[in-house]
Amino acid sequence: MEDKFIYFDHASTTPVKPEVLEAMLPYFTHKFGNASSIYSIGRESKKAIEEARDKVAAAIGAQPREIFFTGSGSESDNWAIKGVAYSNKSKGNHIITTAIEHHAVLHTCQYLESDGFEVTYLPVDENGLITAEQVRAAIKPTTILITVMFANNEIGTIQPIAEIGSIAREKGIYFHTDAVQAIGNIDIKVNDMNIDLLSLSAHKFYGPKGVGALYVRKGVKLASYLHGGAQERGRRASTENIAGIVGMGKAIELASANIEAYNKKLVDLRDRTIDEITKKVPFIKLNGDRNKRLPGNVNFSFQYIEGESLLLMLDLKGIAASSGSACTSGSLDPSHVLLAIGLPHEIAHGSLRITFGEQNTHQDVDYLMEVLPMIVGRLREMSPLYEALANKA
Ligand SMILES: *Cc1c(COP(=O)(O)O)cnc(C)c1O
Repeated sequence: MEDKFIYFDHASTTPVKPEVLEAMLPYFTHKFGNASSIYSIGRESKKAIEEARDKVAAAIGAQPREIFFTGSGSESDNWAIKGVAYSNKSKGNHIITTAIEHHAVLHTCQYLESDGFEVTYLPVDENGLITAEQVRAAIKPTTILITVMFANNEIGTIQPIAEIGSIAREKGIYFHTDAVQAIGNIDIKVNDMNIDLLSLSAHKFYGPKGVGALYVRKGVKLASYLHGGAQERGRRASTENIAGIVGMGKAIELASANIEAYNKKLVDLRDRTIDEITKKVPFIKLNGDRNKRLPGNVNFSFQYIEGESLLLMLDLKGIAASSGSACTSGSLDPSHVLLAIGLPHEIAHGSLRITFGEQNTHQDVDYLMEVLPMIVGRLREMSPLYEALANKA
């Protein structure tokens, strides 16, 4: 193990920024009051939560009262989907989603199928995109919810959210988007895109883990998710994670202020990496759309290679990257996203995801390009399939 440590896995999580930590710290110690208490340190906590709510609302062009804090992006997805499903049962039982959603959406939909709901999983094209027309064609009289992720966590594909939003609005169907990967990378205003519910998670934009939010447009019928106290206007009980909420507010404020420069920086690193890997490594395939793509996302399949071996060799060189998504690592099933874009199992197994962030530099890419072709070459030398092919050539 070398001392070098280069982090290329920002889609899985990001470090807390120093300014964010600094904003959070007092709420662990002397500002520890319960926000439901009426004495001054309680009121101070309440005020801190409301300031964070204002910041999250401002970032996405919502009203503060449309923002509900949750325990994670996964919780926000669960709440949005189950909440709409159970509150609108009398209108219908049909939900439209895509085959490449995060498991927080897919498994929630599968759960609802076991409870009498009907779910359409729209297939994606070879780049991981759906069209608004596909959504329109899937709508039935019983459709109560459309849930389509803003940007995919594995292959970075950005869906036509504004177009889907306008169809949903026209048909009077609620529209939820899991924007966990997009917030902080793409400027999103919920009203411009007719979004009714939107999930976000602080640890994907340099805030703390274990705190998320759900935007719920005023007037949307949504059942409470956690029953108990009157927190979050009675819709999500639990003593608030005040430090986490304050951190989320600070993180989204910083992200919004810097979104253009950050986007440009990431696009630059991404495009250079895609070009160089394409030039320097044979038998590869870029996964996801070349253009409708998150600014910091690179995802390649390398033929004749196991993604896990590639990750281990990169780790020995001090590079942290990912193959498939963090949620499926440790399982031998290839990623549902890579299978959905039509990759055969053996190629889906040999994938590498690099997701750039704040700290990454061109020197990091130089180093990656120094070690990656060598590692790929070495792993292929050990592959009987590759050997057979090389002998034929
Ligand atoms: C990370 C992620 C989630 C889950 O968020 P957590 O806060 O980790 O629960 C959901 N959807 C997408 C697209 C993600 O990338």
